[in-house]
Amino acid sequence: MNRKPSKPSVMIVDDTPANIRVLAESLRRDYRIRVATSGKEALDLIAHVGPPDLLLLDVMMPEMDGYEICRRLKSETETRNIPVIFVTARADAADEEFGLKLGAVDYIVKPFHLPIVTARVRNHIALKQKTDLLESLAMLDGLTGIPNRRRFNQTLAEEWLRARRDGEPLSLLILDIDHFKEYNDHFGHAGGDLCLTKVAEALAHAVNRAGDLVARYGGEEFVALLPDTDASGAREVAARLRETVESLALPHPLSRTASHVTISVGFASLAPGDGGSTEMLLKLADKMLYRAKEQGKNRICGSDDDQAAE
Ligand code: GH3
Ligand code: MG
Ligand code: MG
Repeated sequence: MNRKPSKPSVMIVDDTPANIRVLAESLRRDYRIRVATSGKEALDLIAHVGPPDLLLLDVMMPEMDGYEICRRLKSETETRNIPVIFVTARADAADEEFGLKLGAVDYIVKPFHLPIVTARVRNHIALKQKTDLLESLAMLDGLTGIPNRRRFNQTLAEEWLRARRDGEPLSLLILDIDHFKEYNDHFGHAGGDLCLTKVAEALAHAVNRAGDLVARYGGEEFVALLPDTDASGAREVAARLRETVESLALPHPLSRTASHVTISVGFASLAPGDGGSTEMLLKLADKMLYRAKEQGKNRICGSDDDQAAE
């Protein structure tokens, strides 16, 4: 897709509409502007529309002042990273110190010189975009470009809590390439890397629900996390993933299982509402993977198997 990236968003909070107008007019060309005239309105808007890339925040407002808004935003994980710039008539050094110590990135005193405000906004937006980029890269596997183990761990913790709250099952698949050591021996490490990339891409495209996550767990092991999916659903997805890798038909002359690259899959399905833990889910899926290897590889074993509980 060749979509133009949308403009960064700037939110302006001030109880005096004229102040908002001045700032909005000079920033509108480069940013998407959202406005609020009270703390409550600002917090509601952020909760419903999502965090802006930058927040210009007046201090003196009736009911909830800017300091309190900032304090609340900094206390929640979802809003902690919004850069806040106070724009205020309170010119005391003590006020500025107070605002910066609350976690604001900048402090602008009214009456301001508009070109300086727009320059500061531009600088802080550039920093925010770099931080966002680094954060998203930190969640991706460097070789294959799919989500990495860090991202998986984070999502697993979130999905576990969500499944427990909503009374839904959660399934986890662990997928491991068969005889990969021999693949490297035959094709070299660079050939192995290419194989990992192709398998990762195929796996990532073979899951289709919005909440599903495929990640590289490490080495030649991948994981698939399937929210709101029970054992029979998990078995279906596992079968599709195994077939997807087979149909890549990547030659593997040293495999004792097939003439091409294959994977073994172990999966576990639990209802977090019934107890248990993410560690149990991982351990059970890993045990099932071990069993699939033991039974001859290129196959699926799951926690719905008869002997699973043994
Ligand atoms: P099994 O069929 O039982 O799964 O055996 P296996 O050979 O696939 O598994 P084993 O754990 O013995 O070997 C995994 C190999 O994967 C060894 C390691 O060198 C290789 N490997 C791990 N990470 C990478 C990587 O990033 N690139 C490449 N090319 N190879 C890797
Ligand atoms: Mg392995
Ligand atoms: Mg392996």
